[in-house]
Formats: sequence, C-alpha cells, structure tokens
Amino acid sequence: MTARRSWEFFVSPSAFGSRNRTAVSARGTRVRFADGSQLLCATSGLWNVNLGYGHHRIADAVARALREASYLTLFRYGHEPAERAAAALVGLAGADHYGRVLFSTSGSAAIDAVMKLARHYWLIVGEPQRRLVVGLRGSYHGLTYGSFALTGEDLGQLGYGVDQRQIRHVAHDDISELRTLLGREGPRVAAVVVEPVLGSGAHALAREFVDELAKLRLEHGFLLVADEVATGFGRLGDFFVSQHWSVRPDVLVVSKGLTNGTCAASALIISAAVCAAFDETDSVFVHGETQAGSPPTCAAILATIDAMRDEDILQRARVLGGWLETALRELADDHPMVSGLSGLGCFRALHLRNGDGSTLAAAEVARVVDAVRDAGAIVHPGPSCIQLVPPLIYSSAEVEELMSCLRRGLAGFTGCRQDRR
Ligand code: PLP
Repeated sequence: MTARRSWEFFVSPSAFGSRNRTAVSARGTRVRFADGSQLLCATSGLWNVNLGYGHHRIADAVARALREASYLTLFRYGHEPAERAAAALVGLAGADHYGRVLFSTSGSAAIDAVMKLARHYWLIVGEPQRRLVVGLRGSYHGLTYGSFALTGEDLGQLGYGVDQRQIRHVAHDDISELRTLLGREGPRVAAVVVEPVLGSGAHALAREFVDELAKLRLEHGFLLVADEVATGFGRLGDFFVSQHWSVRPDVLVVSKGLTNGTCAASALIISAAVCAAFDETDSVFVHGETQAGSPPTCAAILATIDAMRDEDILQRARVLGGWLETALRELADDHPMVSGLSGLGCFRALHLRNGDGSTLAAAEVARVVDAVRDAGAIVHPGPSCIQLVPPLIYSSAEVEELMSCLRRGLAGFTGCRQDRR
C-alpha cells in the first residue's frame, strides 16, 4: 500500500486512505470515490455545501476575484471587497441591530475571536472581572484551544491540556442550571455562547429555553453569542435561526454555508452596541488572520447570498424540511431500530437502539454509517444516532432515495447483529 501523506480528521491512521472513503470529485448532490462508487451526499460536505457541489456562479465569482485582486489584507489596511461582503452580512442579519463584521477563517477561529472580543469588551466598559464564558454541555464549538475549551462534548480536552478554568457548561434543556450558575457567578460571566441546534445529536433549543435566556441576559448583563456556524445560511429555512429569537444576540457567528464550502471563511457579525464600546475608546482589538476576508472569500460570500436569493433556497429548504419530517417520521414509526428523531428543518438526527432497547455504542453507529454507505448514501455518525444534513437543493426523489438507503443500511446492520448472536 502506498503511504498516505494526508492526515484524515477523526480517522485512525490504520484506516487512512481506504478507497471507498477517498473522494475524487463532487457535483450537485453526489460525491464520487476512488473505488468508482458515486454516493448521495446527506452531509452537505461537512454541513457547508448547502447549495450543492460545483456551483457555477460561486466558482465564477471566485475566479473573477482571483484575477482582479488575488489577495488584499485586512491587517493594518482595509479593502473594498471586504467592505461589500461585510455590508451584505450586516444587511442580512439586520442593520438596525448589527454594526460591523470581523472576518475569520473557520468556525473554531471565530469562536476563539468571540471569546477574546467578549473579554476585551468588558475590559473597556469597566468590568474587567467578567472573564467566564458559558457554553452548553454536549455542544461543539471547534477544536482550537479556545473553542475546544468551550466545546461541551468530552473529546479528550484534558489530554491536550485545554484550559477550561474560565469556562462553565450548563444543560441545554434545563435553564435552571444556567440560572443557578448566574446566581453564583453572574458578575464574572462575560458571555454565554449557544448553538440554536446542538450539532452533536441535533438537539434544538426549545423556544422557552431561549425566552428564559433572554430574561437572564437582561438580569445579568452578559453578552449573548449565537454560534450559527452550522445553522446559519438556510439550514433551518431562514438565513439565521436567531433572527426569530426574543433577544438579538450581541454577536452572531457564521461559517460553513457562508461560502457554500468554497473558502476557509467565517465571520463575527457584531452588534452596533458592542462596536460602539470599541469606537468610543478607540480600542484596538488584537485579532487578525492572514487569509481572513480575502477578496476571493468575499466574492464567494456575495455570490452565495445572491445565489440563495435567486434560487429561492430558503423556500426550498423549508419544503425539504417538511419532506424530511414526513419521511423520517414514517421511518421512525415503523422501524424497530429507530428510537426517536431530533433536530429541525434540514438538520436532523435519527436516534438508534438495539433489539434490547439499549442505545447504540459509537462502534455500532459506525457500522450503521458503513451499511448506509454500502446502500448508496453518505451520512455522519452522532452520539447513538446518525445525522442527516442534506444539501438544501435535494429533490423529492432524492429524499426517497435517501430513505431507501437508510432502510437498507439499517436492515444490513440488523442482519449483522443477528448473525453475531
Ligand atoms: N461551531 C459549530 C456550531 C460547529 O458546528 C462547528 C463545526 O462543526 C464549529 C463551530 C467549528 O468550525 P470549524 O470546523 O470550521 O472550525
């Protein structure tokens, strides 16, 4: 076997380079692999290719930008493409509330930046004791040191020396934990960061939770951050989930769908009030990344927004969300392995159990994912579940195709279990 030179994420080295997992090309909703198979993508890449692979308009916009100004920096300078993309993002999120955009290069780096921003904000408004950042247990915010600390799922933070002393985690489904924490440490809390739908397991925050969060924010004054890295850009049928919250976040973090997965891009869309604190004190925020907000990235952002409008993607996502709900509910109702559904819109998880009612262990979920792939579709594993995050452009026939792959995959898995007994 030839040596593999690229390190695959979340894969044991012994499994690097398997031909049925080595992709060679992708178009629309399909990915082709080195073993010749062509599979239906039910993961939208890594939840970022919302409009499908190889989108011509975005490709053309990036190519044009590369020719006009292949690179311009935001480090000690500004540039027009960044200004245009930032204005478009503020316009989308609401210019009545948001003031400015800080570009970054990944969800993780953006979460690092937001934690720095929150702490810096409190320094300049005279509450330097506000250092704590609160996240939700089971959440995922990334794997750089800052974002890894905030990630509320145990992914081995301890082993990597991730410092969580300034971090607190509370339940996503019981606001009383946050209330108790704030009662104890409220004056030290700089920010509360929440995903509208927790990526791991696709657990959506209940409306009551968000309403209570809004009240607690009023009472305790922390900054509220919506991590919409995964939910932003149409996943739940609107540009942002938080636009329907009873409170507007102080910072809205977006990434994945922002460029339809074409560029390493993320953005902090920051409220005018937070910007004003920096403006009034003329404070320099010490953050900057060489590739953040480059002209090709900004062109990709603008082209993605235009394509979403012209192709009526939000409406398509709402329709697809309805189709998925019906089809998955049907599967859940008549398949003994399905213990439940979670998520909303086009961000769903199918929770699985064994014949004895126990939830599936990680190795068993991995086997289901393999069986679904053998049946023709790419899905991701989650905690005792498989996650379904399809491109927003699926046709109804592709929903049926996915359901058939799921059914055949589950049947394959059940067969294995019976064989082993
Ligand atoms: N935040 C959320 C909600 C995410 O889903 C992710 C990635 O899945 C991240 C942050 C980290 O993003 P990235 O992988 O671009 O660093």
